[in-house]
Amino acid sequence: MILTLLGAPGAGKGTMARQLAKKLQIPTISTGALLRDEIGSGSMLGKEIDALISNGNFVSDETIISLLLKRLEEADCQKGYILDGFPRNESQADQLSQLGILLDKALLLSIPDAEIIARLAGRRECPNCRATYHIQYNPTKLDGVCDECGGALQIRADDTPEIIKKRLEIYHKQTEPLIQYFRQKGLLAVVQSEQGVDDTVASALKTLGVTL
Ligand SMILES: [Zn+2]
Repeated sequence: MILTLLGAPGAGKGTMARQLAKKLQIPTISTGALLRDEIGSGSMLGKEIDALISNGNFVSDETIISLLLKRLEEADCQKGYILDGFPRNESQADQLSQLGILLDKALLLSIPDAEIIARLAGRRECPNCRATYHIQYNPTKLDGVCDECGGALQIRADDTPEIIKKRLEIYHKQTEPLIQYFRQKGLLAVVQSEQGVDDTVASALKTLGVTL
């Protein structure tokens, strides 16, 4: 099965990708990780990518797709894979199908904006040891104090309500057309991501028509 995941920041895409990969026994391929690996390899291409990203530029579709194609040739991808972070727009989606990479489903993790704001606004981080908590879902034993090192917890700089709202606006603007694109092609599967992780994964498998 070839899948791609769609969902707002904070919708739980990373967790869903890991869980589905485990259940379906296929790898998750993140374009972010492919780029980081190429940079880490020290290749000429890696150096070019590093320079682009360091200067705040985007890496071209051509480059991302060539890295992706190379990765898809590996043995673990033969039964399928989950694409994380790709395609990001209709043009990339079209390029994939032109290359013969046919998605079985695009799985949208649907969650109300208000819920995302509540989730992200509840995150806390320890500035000393980088441990992360959530005031509701993963609280510390002592309010505001890191369990690991006793540090005073902070709200991450990008988790303020204003910044979260901005990120959600950008997400909707970029992703709505892609959701529409997959819906028209009959590839869109939607799962409500408000339940606990196990329930959400079970609903996702059901929506994808997978029986394990
Ligand atoms: Zn700490």
